[in-house]
Amino acid sequence: MLKLTILLSFFIYPLLIWAEQKALIKDIRYYEISSGVRVVIESTNYVEFTKGQLKNPDRVFFDIKNAVLNKDIKKEIFLNTQEVFRIRIGQFDPNTVRFVFDLNSSHYNLKVITLEDPFRLVIDVYSQQSSRIYEQKEKSLLKRKIVIDPGHGGKDPGAIGPTGLQEKEIVLDIALKIKEFFKSDPSYDIILTRDKDMYVSLEERAEIANKAEADLFISIHTNASPNIYSKGIETYLLNWTDDEEAIRVAARENAISVNKMRQLKGELGVVLASLEREAKRDESIKLASYIHTSIVESLKKSFLRSDNGVKQALFYVLIGAKMPSVLLEISYISNPEEEYLLSQDFYRTKIAQAIAEGIINYFSKSDRIKKVKYTKNKVIKVKKSNGYINKKRTHL
Ligand SMILES: [Zn+2]
Repeated sequence: MLKLTILLSFFIYPLLIWAEQKALIKDIRYYEISSGVRVVIESTNYVEFTKGQLKNPDRVFFDIKNAVLNKDIKKEIFLNTQEVFRIRIGQFDPNTVRFVFDLNSSHYNLKVITLEDPFRLVIDVYSQQSSRIYEQKEKSLLKRKIVIDPGHGGKDPGAIGPTGLQEKEIVLDIALKIKEFFKSDPSYDIILTRDKDMYVSLEERAEIANKAEADLFISIHTNASPNIYSKGIETYLLNWTDDEEAIRVAARENAISVNKMRQLKGELGVVLASLEREAKRDESIKLASYIHTSIVESLKKSFLRSDNGVKQALFYVLIGAKMPSVLLEISYISNPEEEYLLSQDFYRTKIAQAIAEGIINYFSKSDRIKKVKYTKNKVIKVKKSNGYINKKRTHL
């Protein structure tokens, strides 16, 4: 018996070491970049890989060495983009995970880089042609999933205006109008975190977007201030801020005190640092810029509303979202004039349309450089990515 135990441990021990060293392929994500498609393969630790190309039909494959596949990963993903028809994923042999890209054309370029923490293999497949012949076709095939989050609801009315108008009602109506706006467009799938007067926790809201694997998360609110003269439009990104006004806005939306908000810096520093790396941040800035510009231009023209710029603050509702996300403060419900406007259907329709147009602009292929006011003095320039990976930027 002793002999058997020794013998078994002799075999099991190296097996355990071997098992420990294997990387687990955790996740595969993909999204469109301006000239092609980007696929991100995430693993628990560093992996080596080889790639190969095959003809008839055109395909390219990646063998990830010493790796095993997470069982939750789909074995087949249909991208239906101009370049990539489908990705097939499988445990090729006990030590190798193989990704096969079935291509739509032999005219493609490939760019592969690796990033760490967590380890990611980033594969860009992009068109050799400068102009994308199939752009229209591609647009019609790609479905954009947008999660619209009308703030508050149910037992939480949000901010209340001088005549009793409730934030939860206004933002729900705007969210429903945005959904309506995209109803006839099959390339957009609009998901609401609530479509009636019900309470949804801040954590649940981002989770709805994560579960849906949404492309964007947009939380809609009305602003409020003890100063009844405060007015205008603000768009927020998730980040730490020293701006007192932004801290006050976030404290209200997070339903915590301003003092607690100040304490959060230490507690959430690590989370934010990792977000910075994971970097939905660049895309969030771009999204904020397009939506903010669209709302400001629309309301400035018709209602002379003021542009308070794109700012940043720690909003709980944005922390869990894995995709580019922004929080909109569409007007001040505490300002009597803006409360009146918010109570009007035409004003809410105008805002809903402007948000929808901002979303469309975000996805459009424009190379225009957008300038937006950012916090008090800074100006962020948002430029559409050229489709190549810049290692210093981490928008993966
Ligand atoms: Zn709110």
